[in-house]
Amino acid sequence: MIEEQTMTGHHLNLGATHAGLQDFTDSYTLFKETTRRYREAYEQLEAQFESLNVKLEETNLELRRSLEEKDRVSNYLNNILESLTGGVLVVDADGVITLFNQAAQGITGRSEAEVLGKTYEQALGLEYGSRHSVLHTLETGLSLSHREKELVHADGHSIPVGFSTSLVRDENGSVLGAVEVFNDMTEIKRLEAEIQRAHTLAALGEMAATVAHEIRNPLGGIATFANLLGRDLGHDDPRRRLVAKITEGVGRLNRIVTSLLTYTRPLRLHAHQVNLVELVEEATAFFEIELARNHRNVTVHRVYHYPDLQCRIDPEQFQQVILNLLQNAQQAMPEGGDITVRVGPAGDAKGVVLSVDDTGPGMSSEILDKLFTPFFTTKEDGTGLGLVTSRKIVEAHNGSISVTSSAGAGTCFHVNIPA
Ligand code: ADP
Ligand code: MG
Repeated sequence: MIEEQTMTGHHLNLGATHAGLQDFTDSYTLFKETTRRYREAYEQLEAQFESLNVKLEETNLELRRSLEEKDRVSNYLNNILESLTGGVLVVDADGVITLFNQAAQGITGRSEAEVLGKTYEQALGLEYGSRHSVLHTLETGLSLSHREKELVHADGHSIPVGFSTSLVRDENGSVLGAVEVFNDMTEIKRLEAEIQRAHTLAALGEMAATVAHEIRNPLGGIATFANLLGRDLGHDDPRRRLVAKITEGVGRLNRIVTSLLTYTRPLRLHAHQVNLVELVEEATAFFEIELARNHRNVTVHRVYHYPDLQCRIDPEQFQQVILNLLQNAQQAMPEGGDITVRVGPAGDAKGVVLSVDDTGPGMSSEILDKLFTPFFTTKEDGTGLGLVTSRKIVEAHNGSISVTSSAGAGTCFHVNIPA
């Protein structure tokens, strides 16, 4: 019974188990199905993720490329800005400097660090008012082109500059700030002044030449008649002294007129190959004889390199230069002293230098400034034409003449000529 029961039970149980198995199979199928779907979804997500990743990678690459490109363009523009010889300065809408290129730093003597972040006025000053700066453009929107003004250099001196300004806008047309481009005009101004001086000198020269010619004839007359008068007077006649004074005065006038004519006459060079040291020595030896004749207590020293150097020069005119310099040196030392004449290589090894040194009193900076001005002289009987004539001759040889001197330390004139 029990058995049966058990059997039945078992049977029954079996029935129940059968139903349970079905459920289990169903739920297993469901589970499998769900898992499959999940897996599919997962795989899909994974695929999506993968493709997103790829996309992200691509976008990143693109971004990097475009950044690099932007960097390249901005570097390129920056390099251009920095290589410009013109100064470039940019201010933002508040007038604060945001860009100051290399040339701007060179011209103004102010570093980028000194001016960036400062207002235009703080950084550069407004000596001439804002009307002559980028601030005017910022205020009014009007560009300034090809204007001139002066900027104050960091060391205090004024620099003439030419400048232009304009607004800086973004792509939508709104104002970001303004830019000022400026150029150092010091050299141009100097050349203008030189041309002006050359014009003045040419006019002056023309007039002087006419006057000199006009003076020469009556001067010749006076000299001749004074000579005749002297001959008529007896040897011990006291009036001979007066006649001698006339002749002396005429001689001086004649020297002035001659140097005036030499200076104003257009220079014609008769240049040929000559031995420079021989030429210098000839003039120096002649000058020494003059020194001895006038009992001057001056010793001349020579330092000659290049004994065989041949130069293409006009010997007569060049000797005139040497004699002018030697004479000035001697006149600077009325109580005597030493003169050293040198011929040697130029500092930059291009060409030669002839120099004349003295142990005289030297010159103050005021005199140095006027040294090459026609008619400038500190001597009672000077003409003030010796150095300007010398310079004219040297420059006609494509050379240059310069001087180093300071009060109390002697003077040295250097004549540079191409070898
Ligand atoms: P000048 O000799 O007729 O005065 P220069 O043109 O030769 O004219 O010289 C101009 C001036 O330059 C001189 O008057 C003098 O003041 C100055 N000078 C030239 N050479 C020397 C020198 N070696 N030492 C000092 N001063 C000099
Ligand atoms: Mg002189």
